[in-house]
Amino acid sequence: MNANLVAVFLARHAGHEAKPALIWQGEAVCTFGELPAMIGRYRAALAQLGVTRGARVMIKAENSPGFALTYLAVLASGAIAVPVNPAYTASEVALLIEDAEPVLLVHGSATAVPEGDRPKRLTLEPDGSGTLAELTAGLEPDLAVEEMAETDLAAILFTSGTTGRPKGAMLMHRNLSSNVAALYETWRFSDADSILHSLPLFHAHGLFVALHLGLYSAATVHLLGKFDAAKVVALLPSVSVFMGVPTFYTRLLEREDFTREATAAIRLFISGSAPLLPSVFSAFEARTGQRILERYGMTEAVMITSNPYAPEGRIAGTVGYPLPGVELRVVGGEGRAELPPGETGEIEIRGPNLCAGYWRRAEATAEAIGPDGFFVTGDTGYRDADGRVTIAGRSKDLIISGGFNIYPAELEMVLAEVDGVADVAIIGVPHPDFGEAVVAVVTAERADLDPAAIEAVAREKLARFKQPKAIRIVPEFPRNAMGKVLKADLRRQFAALFQGRE
Ligand code: AMP
Repeated sequence: MNANLVAVFLARHAGHEAKPALIWQGEAVCTFGELPAMIGRYRAALAQLGVTRGARVMIKAENSPGFALTYLAVLASGAIAVPVNPAYTASEVALLIEDAEPVLLVHGSATAVPEGDRPKRLTLEPDGSGTLAELTAGLEPDLAVEEMAETDLAAILFTSGTTGRPKGAMLMHRNLSSNVAALYETWRFSDADSILHSLPLFHAHGLFVALHLGLYSAATVHLLGKFDAAKVVALLPSVSVFMGVPTFYTRLLEREDFTREATAAIRLFISGSAPLLPSVFSAFEARTGQRILERYGMTEAVMITSNPYAPEGRIAGTVGYPLPGVELRVVGGEGRAELPPGETGEIEIRGPNLCAGYWRRAEATAEAIGPDGFFVTGDTGYRDADGRVTIAGRSKDLIISGGFNIYPAELEMVLAEVDGVADVAIIGVPHPDFGEAVVAVVTAERADLDPAAIEAVAREKLARFKQPKAIRIVPEFPRNAMGKVLKADLRRQFAALFQGRE
């Protein structure tokens, strides 16, 4: 059987030929019946530029139907898609080009790309125009879908790691098809669904979760160029599923027209890519009567855990249970032994979702994936007696103060509950006595937020060693494209807070 993900998708569209596969700016781009020819035309265009089996094609563009079609055509050609953040500078992309050696760079003309004529280039504008569209227009579609093995590569995604050189996670066709099948079951997708998609397509969440679920379920995807709270509220009545990062939900809750009525057509709101504050989960439930379903994943392993589908099983601050087929363990201490329930340690995973390693980085791969096949996620957390997982934070964000381990997520959840606090980022900064000192960086909901109120709650609810040694209110946090707080930036900003104190 052809393990090419595109073949997996197309085989599931029988009977849905007349239904729109993709909607963009209110108009159907193509039906499921027209999709093979659309992909085929892009495939024929790519072939003219030398895209063959195993070649890499870098896509650096804003969301558009052309992005999705280029991606699918790359896979249909047996080539490897390398989506990159359109916000990267020319010098950042130059490094990724050097590493991935793509034969072709497909890019929006508004995004920065290095000068020169290597690799070859085609332009792809958000409105669908550009040299790629011109080329496809005159071509006969190539309807063939290259025969691939399960372990052949489909995509390389550079991890959004905030430190060190980006590493390319090598995703195999098997990773993507097994993961979308697991999500389809867990989240009860069907051909009756339609998905409102406002996540960036260059990231695993937008590409492998939102887009793939539509194609796998034969469910229409309403694609937006980017998240826009007003547009989302307007479109919610016409779809059944919405997926977002936590900041999307915060933005929606700021709007008065985001009401129970506005969300009545939605059967499922999903959140991931960063921790969802329990305060946002509760505010959302109070407003809409619905519970957000939180899941946990990462570029290297697509989706790993999910809260259960049954609303009563969705618990704020937890990420639920491993997806079918995924093994998860929490290890720590000497010899990295598996820890008992309730103890926080490093999360390791194994399963059909796990990537083949890092592109041309044998050493980094060997460091991350042990001889028994378990991958060190770089996240810390614990499991309950029944196996439910709670994330405590990135291992590199762990704070060691006076010899005690402090997990930021625990403190963030407690302090976010303080009246007037919008969000909290807990960081560790150098301290002459304690090694590291806990600093609470806070954004306020109200201008008159008093740090003393935060201090009082910390004293009441947190053991002394966990209480912040300083509280700083800032207008906003530095965040990456997925809304994740850039803690390394905050640590740099506050590095000198305790310098010179004895
Ligand atoms: P990325 O590779 O950009 O998708 O980032 C993956 C990282 O995001 C994970 O290793 C986690 O640290 C974080 N992450 C993803 N989902 C969640 C979640 N639901 N709760 C907490 N952290 C999350």
